[in-house]
Amino acid sequence: MAPRSLLPAWVMAGLDVLFPPACAACGREGDPWSDAPPGGALGPSGICGACVAELVATAPRCGRCGAEATGGRCRACHGRPVDHDGIVVLGDYGGGLRAAVLRAKRPAGRMLAERLGGLLHERHGAAIAAWQVDVVVPVPMHWRRRWLRGTSLAETVARRLAGDARLPCAGLLRRSRPTALQNSLPPEGRRANVRDAFAASPHRVEGRRVLLVDDVLTTGGTVAACRQTLVRAGAAAVFVAVIARAGRGGDDGDPDSG
Ligand SMILES: [Zn+2]
Ligand SMILES: [Zn+2]
Repeated sequence: MAPRSLLPAWVMAGLDVLFPPACAACGREGDPWSDAPPGGALGPSGICGACVAELVATAPRCGRCGAEATGGRCRACHGRPVDHDGIVVLGDYGGGLRAAVLRAKRPAGRMLAERLGGLLHERHGAAIAAWQVDVVVPVPMHWRRRWLRGTSLAETVARRLAGDARLPCAGLLRRSRPTALQNSLPPEGRRANVRDAFAASPHRVEGRRVLLVDDVLTTGGTVAACRQTLVRAGAAAVFVAVIARAGRGGDDGDPDSG
């Protein structure tokens, strides 16, 4: 089916009666006559107002790690090396956003995954436009894990975000070796686990401003390793967009977070 926005209004009205639009996060259907689910009107991302308020954090964030902070930099980041040229985050990994991420990681959660990408664009599209990104690149899973899972949240989010931002999305990174699950390791072992775990072809990366997309950021080790690979391959800049940022103390239930 064509994207809803491309259909004439009378077709959409008919579709809404047959298939009332439902919020991708809470699943509540709209009343076809009032055109809004109980949580409020569906935004362009297909998530209702109540869920958007729960999933999207609006407090100012640290420009280095994405943690909530006033004044542009959190205390933990003073004196730490920078892992990227800029970062945007939908919210902290907890409550409704944690539940949404875990659901979106499953093949059945694909629509939610896509809409989380839409929400990232809705919230941070202006910042991403200001970065003058050339290409959107998902943090890759090792092919074996990707195959076992049947889906990759980072990939789905990256595609949707790129589509909404009218940017190309390309798998310019690959896993050059399998790694242990990041959350099976203590925080201090995670950087070593992913060091040199990625590869990129210089001819596809050179001179480009890359927006790296991942689902959950914990210690930042995965993002740092990806950035290093991209910079070595000649990337002009590496920005980061993630759905959720988990505390540094470690993580639960999210096998791929780094
Ligand atoms: Zn909802
Ligand atoms: Zn910080």
